[in-house]
Amino acid sequence: MGFVGRKFWNVFPLFEKKPPKADNLSCPVCGSKMYFKHAHAFKRSDGEYRMDIAVKCSNCALVLVFGVHITESEYKKFVEATGGTVTYADTNATV
Ligand SMILES: [Zn+2]
Repeated sequence: MGFVGRKFWNVFPLFEKKPPKADNLSCPVCGSKMYFKHAHAFKRSDGEYRMDIAVKCSNCALVLVFGVHITESEYKKFVEATGGTVTYADTNATV
């Protein structure tokens, strides 16, 4: 089955506090552009690791959260580089 979400998301820009990249991500309600809101990595109670990636629609304000699988070593690198959370404000990105 592999790591869910990893074909869709490139999470590695987050390690440098840049927005993650997704293919053809548009709002399912109104079709407008969605922008990066925040990402947070965590360890689950069963010992697996996940990164929640939140995006927000620039038009209707819908927020979606993706629960992307990451490895233990990716988790540790991400926490070391960012403290475990990257927000839109951290990225200096424009909408
Ligand atoms: Zn929308």
